[in-house]
Order: sequence, then C-alpha cells, then structure tokens
Amino acid sequence: MPRESLAVKRRRAVAVLDRLAPLYPGGEQALLEYHDPFTLLIAVLLSAQTTDAAVNKVTPELFRRWPRAQELASASTGEVAEVIHSLGFYNTKAKNSILCAQKLLADFGGVVPQTMEELTSLPGVGRKTANIVLNSAFGHAVGIAVDTHVFRIATRLRLTSASEPVKAERDLLRIIPQSYWSTVNRSWVLFGREYCSARRPHCAACPTNDLCPSAGKA
Ligand code: SF4
Repeated sequence: MPRESLAVKRRRAVAVLDRLAPLYPGGEQALLEYHDPFTLLIAVLLSAQTTDAAVNKVTPELFRRWPRAQELASASTGEVAEVIHSLGFYNTKAKNSILCAQKLLADFGGVVPQTMEELTSLPGVGRKTANIVLNSAFGHAVGIAVDTHVFRIATRLRLTSASEPVKAERDLLRIIPQSYWSTVNRSWVLFGREYCSARRPHCAACPTNDLCPSAGKA
C-alpha cells in the first residue's frame, strides 16, 4: 500500500467509523454494568485481561457489599478477592480496588474526579480506564480508550504502527476528528467481537473490508 497522507488516512478512518455507527449504536455507553462513576471505575479496573461478561458476573455482589469508596476502602483484600476470584489476577485487582477507594477517600472526598491527571493518580488506573470513566460517566471525551480490540483494529487498519496502546492512542487522536472520539471504543470493541477478532477475522464478510489494508491478510 502506498504511503498515505494524514488527510487521506483521516478520510479512511472516518469512513470506517461512519459505516460502523449504525451497526453498533449506543455512542459512548460503556459495555460494563455500573450504577455511577465509582462503580464504573471499579468495573473497568477489574476488566484488565478479562472479558466484560466475566466482570459483569462478579460486580453485582461486589457493589452490593461495597457500593461506595467509603465502604470499599475498609474492606480486606481477602474478602474482596473471594468475591472476584473468578477473574484473572484477582488478588492484584482486589488490592488495587481497595487502594483506589482509599485514595479516592483521602484525596477526593470519596468522589470520582473528572480530569485525566487526577484519575490516573489513582492506583491501577491508566489512560484506558480514565478515558472510559471520563467518557461514559461524565461525557468528557478527552481521548480514546485503547484496549486490546481498539489496538488490534487500529493496527490492522494501519492507523498506527505503535507497539503500545498509549502511543497508539496518540496516533489515533491525530487522525480521528474529536467529534468521533467518544464512540470509537464501544464501536470497535463490538466490531472486534463480531468481525475483526484476534484469532480469526472474518474479512470476507467485514463491512469495512474495502477500507482495510489488512483485508484477507490479518
Ligand atoms: S477486513 Fe479483516 S482485518 Fe480488516 S477490519 Fe475487517 S475483519 Fe479486520
């Protein structure tokens, strides 16, 4: 494929997003179940290297017992780990959830902050988690949450050649117009599950295969 200018790449990315928009409506809505910014923050924290469905199975009991930072901050790692033990890395996630609740309480009065800088100061919270919370809980699209699906699809679409999500996000923010930022994560996660899966992408049936340099080669 010849080298693309930024303008051409942008047009192709926008065409992909426009084509997927009616297939995956829901805008900025997160795919995890939550009640408020705090429960969304904890749910995203738990979702690292596991599926949303697996997280949605453990969070009803977790949030029933510890609905706010105030309660979770004084839970023990052992009791939280017991509730979330079906998830990978459950001990680390239990520890981080409690530390996160404690810092929320100590620094933010138990209220989830609304800036990237403050959110990423919380234990276990990186840009991906912060982007999802800012976007879905507060309607602030200051970036694009690059999870495993977004990273893979951006790479296959040759919108980035970065080796890590934070750098891939930087590329995407340059290419994709800001008005689309809030919808990229949800749209591409669902698209990734249905068509552009990690192991066996369904390129022949893919609705964007004419826009994808990796069609039939991924
Ligand atoms: S054509 Fe294949 S590799 Fe490209 S986006 Fe579609 S499923 Fe993914």
